[in-house]
Amino acid sequence: MTQFQQRWHRQLDARKTEQRLRFHRTLETAQGINVTVDGRACLNFASNDYLGMANSDVVKSALAQATERYGVGSGASHLICGHSQAHEELTAEICEWTGRESALLFSSGYQANLAIMQCLLTRDDFIFQDRLNHASLLDGGLLSGARFRRYAHADAQALSHLLSKTDGLGIVATDGVFSMDGDVAPLPALFSEIKEQGAEDRTLLMVDDAHGLGVLGHQGAGTVAYHQLTPKEVPVLMGTFGKAIGTAGAFVAGSQTLIETLTQFARPYVYTTALSPAIAAATIASIRAIRTADAQRQQLHTHIHFFNYLKPMLAELNAQLLPSQTAIQALVLEGEQRTLAVADALWQAGFWVGAIRPPTVPTDTCRLRIALSSAHSQDDVTRLAEALLSALAAHP
Ligand SMILES: *Cc1c(COP(=O)(O)O)cnc(C)c1O
Repeated sequence: MTQFQQRWHRQLDARKTEQRLRFHRTLETAQGINVTVDGRACLNFASNDYLGMANSDVVKSALAQATERYGVGSGASHLICGHSQAHEELTAEICEWTGRESALLFSSGYQANLAIMQCLLTRDDFIFQDRLNHASLLDGGLLSGARFRRYAHADAQALSHLLSKTDGLGIVATDGVFSMDGDVAPLPALFSEIKEQGAEDRTLLMVDDAHGLGVLGHQGAGTVAYHQLTPKEVPVLMGTFGKAIGTAGAFVAGSQTLIETLTQFARPYVYTTALSPAIAAATIASIRAIRTADAQRQQLHTHIHFFNYLKPMLAELNAQLLPSQTAIQALVLEGEQRTLAVADALWQAGFWVGAIRPPTVPTDTCRLRIALSSAHSQDDVTRLAEALLSALAAHP
């Protein structure tokens, strides 16, 4: 064995001993509510496809048509020869939807976050982050070399305190909707603390709205729209296409100057192949459908209310449902063994729910991450609730 192989075995064995090895189940059908996975039919409550767009007719037919016109691959980076009319139209659609001057496309949200931080921050700057921010925001901060200041979850006062002790340029970065908790970031409070500290001039508020877009706000324009904040208050908006929008890729939207700066200097933008133009076209179709999908958002909110109503029953079974007005319903079970046992019992009963454990969340907050979708029927959600209550009772 080489020294590398020895190291890999050591790392893998340690993970295995902790019972934290991860694996993927294999879907045999399209992403959706009723799926066949590893040879069995089940009801899916693990997906980020909150509006059922990933396998929708509107998105599929837009993709098929665009494939006829543009083919599949983009062929190069945007600045070489990979930028097509579909990309151009998608950025225009995003600008109109989110009320911003300009936008830039990326192949993934992870990459978009790396680009923002690497490009906008230097080693002398500061990056203020909510403790529960997505891993890609943390990694972007590391790539930038800026000084980290992490504040307690959703705690604008804690941010204020950190701001008062720094005087350089900085970005305050937050998930719009927290991916493992489902709560909405207190954007107005964060912005008013920036103002309070007289730091508006030297501080950018940035929102990663992977889980808010499509679900929250007028026309589903996301968390910033939900809070009715302006582009001046939240100058940097990042969003992803792989969740409620049901395709793949991501964008950053903001002022003309911001986007021009990213275009020129963001290495994760410059040195990578452009998103497939056909995917870009499918994304336009999805966004247009989502902007008028009030009925689907209403259906989703009905499911969310139903879940909130279960809260006391769940609490009696020692399961804490975190406050959430979004599709993400986190049920904290604390013990890792219990979390796995309940997730497995649900799986055996035909329900697919994510069991989230360290290192994704802290050790004492293991949870089931129940993802609701407008494509679920009331009956689907009721059946999950019954299975959940009985699984919790069987695994106290
Ligand atoms: C999923 C997610 C990302 C990454 O986006 P991808 O397009 O999947 O790479 C970034 N931020 C948050 C909050 C996410 O949930």
